[in-house]
Amino acid sequence: MKKNICAILVFISIVLNFTSCDSSRNKYYEKSNIVMDTVVTLSAYGENSKEAVEESFKKLDEINEMASTNIDTSDIYKINNSSGESYVQVHPEIMKMIETSIKYSKLSDGAFDITLGPIIDLWGIGTDNERVPSDEEIKAKLPLVGCDKISINEEESSVMLQKKGMALDLGGIAKGFAADEVLKIYKKYNIENGLINLGSSSIYAVGKNKDNNKWSVGIKHPRSEDSKNYLGIIKLSNEALSTSGDYERYFIKDNKRYHHIINPKTGYPADNGVMSDTMVIDNDDEDKNMLADLLTTTVFILGPEKGLNLIKTLPNVSCEITTSDYKIYTSDDFKDRITDLNKEFEFAN
Ligand code: ADP
Ligand code: MG
Repeated sequence: MKKNICAILVFISIVLNFTSCDSSRNKYYEKSNIVMDTVVTLSAYGENSKEAVEESFKKLDEINEMASTNIDTSDIYKINNSSGESYVQVHPEIMKMIETSIKYSKLSDGAFDITLGPIIDLWGIGTDNERVPSDEEIKAKLPLVGCDKISINEEESSVMLQKKGMALDLGGIAKGFAADEVLKIYKKYNIENGLINLGSSSIYAVGKNKDNNKWSVGIKHPRSEDSKNYLGIIKLSNEALSTSGDYERYFIKDNKRYHHIINPKTGYPADNGVMSDTMVIDNDDEDKNMLADLLTTTVFILGPEKGLNLIKTLPNVSCEITTSDYKIYTSDDFKDRITDLNKEFEFAN
């Protein structure tokens, strides 16, 4: 089990009913729980807010049971266990994540890569086994990495990894996918206001908050332990936000930070001066949270120049990239979206 989750006392479940919003149309329901190694908080206003939130948590559990690398009945576990040997039939949800990942692997010249499983395993970042592997160990595993070595049989809805020892890891896409599924459930229950929060990985702001304002989301200061010390604030309404950072899961050895976002070309944590990046997507596309999630990981690896070039080609996507010299690079329309900018940082462009 992941170290940071072990540290969180057993189980958090908060259910709040705000008396100020007592008309049934505005009935408020909020619940937090740990799913996918993340503290997930779902809140909703509406007649069916409780049903929407409870059904969403069930769906999140289902997705985790399909996508986890550890649960031996999951599609991903079975694919990894059958690498180099046989095809495994998968749920449509898993097929969608794999096919989208392959698409964005190509688009990003291999920066986003779900076949990093064997390398992620070597580093063990965030687990009790985290360590710096030797160059030789990493070089021995690199030939097992590459989305071109995933075979898909669409008719049978099955997947096979071509080489023995290959392994998929959906950690860079699954939470975004899950947030999209929660949003579908919110729509089914006519939830017009609420917040879907899967850690900083994936946040979707539905409508407005209880004061009828846009939702305010604080972007974490990448180096401050104080959770209230933000990099800046972003106001959102019916938009998806995702952040990736080198402070999420990491360890420090000999004054060097080793974090969980791996450059598939080297097998080492991305080392191009990026501390964090944040993506906002405001379209009606049903995949917006999934896209935001995978793009933050991708842009983190590409760095400011290549990252912004990729973002420019994608409609309704904007982003900021924070580098270790405390500079913030933004896509054209993003600078104005950051309010309360922390004085330690300045815009680079
Ligand atoms: P978080 O899990 O905090 O949302 P990210 O969205 O940045 O963080 O995803 C990082 C996770 O994605 C890693 O923990 C790992 O499971 C996986 N991963 C790491 N490097 C890559 C990569 N280059 N491409 C795709 N997935 C990756
Ligand atoms: Mg993420």
